[in-house]
Amino acid sequence: MADCLFCKIVAGEIPSTKVYEDEQCLAFADTNPQAPRHVLVVPKKHFTDIGDLGQDAEAAAGLVAGIGGLARQEGFTDYRTVFNTGAGVGQSVFHVHAHVLSGRPMGWPPG
Ligand code: 5GP
Ligand code: ZN
Repeated sequence: MADCLFCKIVAGEIPSTKVYEDEQCLAFADTNPQAPRHVLVVPKKHFTDIGDLGQDAEAAAGLVAGIGGLARQEGFTDYRTVFNTGAGVGQSVFHVHAHVLSGRPMGWPPG
C-alpha cells in the first residue's frame, strides 16, 4: 500500500534490522525498544489491524506461524506478544504488527 511505513520496510525501500523472514512475514527490530529484545512481526501483505487480518484466515495463520518461527530462531522461551488496535491504545502504524518482547521479567497485568 502506498504511503505505508511497514509496506515500505517490507519492500526494502526503508532500511530495517531484519531478524526473521519467511514466505508470509518479515520481523525486524523496533527502533524504540521497550525490552532488551523488541521485534515487530508483520505480514508482507498489507492489513490495517488485527480485525482486518482476521478476515483472511490464511494470512492470520501465517502471522502466528511467523511469531512462532521468530521465537524458535531467536531462542525466546518467555516472551510477550502485543497487538495495539486503534490510536486510543497506542497504534501508530496502521499495518498490522505483533510486538514481540523478551529479555526481561514482565509483570501481569501490565503496568
Ligand atoms: P504501534 O505504536 O503502532 O503499536 O507500534 C509501532 C512501532 O513501530 C513502535 O513501537 C515504533 O517504535 C516502531 N517504529 C516506528 N517507526 C519505525 C521505523 O521506521 N522502523 C522500525 N524498525 N520501527 C519503527
Ligand atoms: Zn502496509
